[in-house]
Amino acid sequence: MEKENQTAICLRHLPGVDELLRTSYVANLLREYPRAIVVRAARTALEKQRTALLSTESMDIEALSESSLRSYFLQHLSQEVGRLVWQQTRSNLKKVINATGIILHTNLGRAPLSKAAQKAVQAAGSGYCNLELDLNTGRRGSRGDLIEGLLTSLVPVEAALVVNNNAAAVLLALNTMARSKEVIVSRGQLVEIGGSFRMPEVMRQSGARLVEVGATNRTYLDDYRAAITEQTALLLHVHTSNYKIIGFTQETSLEELVSLGREYHLPVMSDLGSGCFIDLAFLGLNTEINVPEIVAAGVDVITFSGDKLLGGPQAGIILGKRDYLVKMKKNPLFRAVRCDKLTLAALESTLRLYFDLPEAWKEIPVLRMLRLKKEEIEEGAKKVVDALKPVLKDYARISLEPTYAQVGGGAMPATNIPSVAVVIQPFHQKVTEVAARLRNKEPAIIGRLQEESLWLDLRTVQKEETELLIEALKELKNENGKF
Ligand SMILES: *Cc1c(COP(=O)(O)O)cnc(C)c1O
Repeated sequence: MEKENQTAICLRHLPGVDELLRTSYVANLLREYPRAIVVRAARTALEKQRTALLSTESMDIEALSESSLRSYFLQHLSQEVGRLVWQQTRSNLKKVINATGIILHTNLGRAPLSKAAQKAVQAAGSGYCNLELDLNTGRRGSRGDLIEGLLTSLVPVEAALVVNNNAAAVLLALNTMARSKEVIVSRGQLVEIGGSFRMPEVMRQSGARLVEVGATNRTYLDDYRAAITEQTALLLHVHTSNYKIIGFTQETSLEELVSLGREYHLPVMSDLGSGCFIDLAFLGLNTEINVPEIVAAGVDVITFSGDKLLGGPQAGIILGKRDYLVKMKKNPLFRAVRCDKLTLAALESTLRLYFDLPEAWKEIPVLRMLRLKKEEIEEGAKKVVDALKPVLKDYARISLEPTYAQVGGGAMPATNIPSVAVVIQPFHQKVTEVAARLRNKEPAIIGRLQEESLWLDLRTVQKEETELLIEALKELKNENGKF
């Protein structure tokens, strides 16, 4: 067939939408999926085929006889419809097995929820709840009351407030306490958080003017003192949580800042970022994020995230002196940054776990992962290596290597936690290709690329995910006969 003629013949045999919908394969799809989605997929598949025929992409069709064209199209296109429908209807938010070794990975949703929190979310979401109803009086209640009492009994503070995330907590606090006024902060503490949002820019949106003092690596108490004016409303301490300046550094301690604040009758606020109720010193981790210690330093207002080391849902927690928090609660901005019932349900049940510390260590995934012994991780890693080695021996070198996991989520950047990784070094394929294929699994598997190998750190892989991981890795070989 000459080219032009061939295209015309092919186009003539292209089925219509209705014919495509009547094939048994697509008819089955119609029973399972909404008609509008299937019909749209059929139109898209036909349109794509038509475009391909009009360009030169139809090489494989040249070999077909005219009489077999229609059945070829019907079969090929109905499968394409199935693929498009599947693409359209599967969830975009997918489960991921985190083998990066970063416990609080912001791109992977930070803290996984405890079983108790998962159940609470399910219960709160599946029906009505007393979100703003006082069941004792039958009158309108405050949604925060459910949680604030828990927080003030866990930490010796006068008052507590919960908002959507810690950035919102800082915004609300600064807007309430320092709008149109000055806030003094160390230049070395103006941190950048993920997604290219800079915390100082969020702070400026509060309407407060940031007065930066000191040099990036050194700030003395006298730098703060010299910056205090009639306009000063607040002294701000920010935990430099996602980077650390090492070497010739000087930071003013919180205690010093608090005494300066008392001297000038100025409140002191600490943005902790990753607050934790438990002293983690015995794990060899630093303790600067210990909320009770910050409270003991005499700070007036503390803010931190719910989904960092606390191990709960995304939320911003504000603790401190009642007068300041009452004002925040009356601020119209509070309405814009309040939490929904699902967050409150997850947070409440996470907080309840902290009343029984052994229970918290066991049940809160972030704490459990932090405390895992290297030997326990090694045991799981051995299982993976033993299962994979015989299957993949011609395709990749599989080994077990010591490595370091990290807390992540802006907490304790300089802290390396000893861990164990399953390391995969493919013989015939680029490691980036292997990584891409693992990302496309369900659940997706995310590891770390290092020295031409894929490192799967098992500290962050949950016990019940190990089998899934093994199966997914074995399948890598089956898909196309090569690794
Ligand atoms: C993480 C962090 C924030 C932002 O908290 P989100 O809960 O992500 O909004 C603000 N300040 C510090 C110091 C942080 O570490």
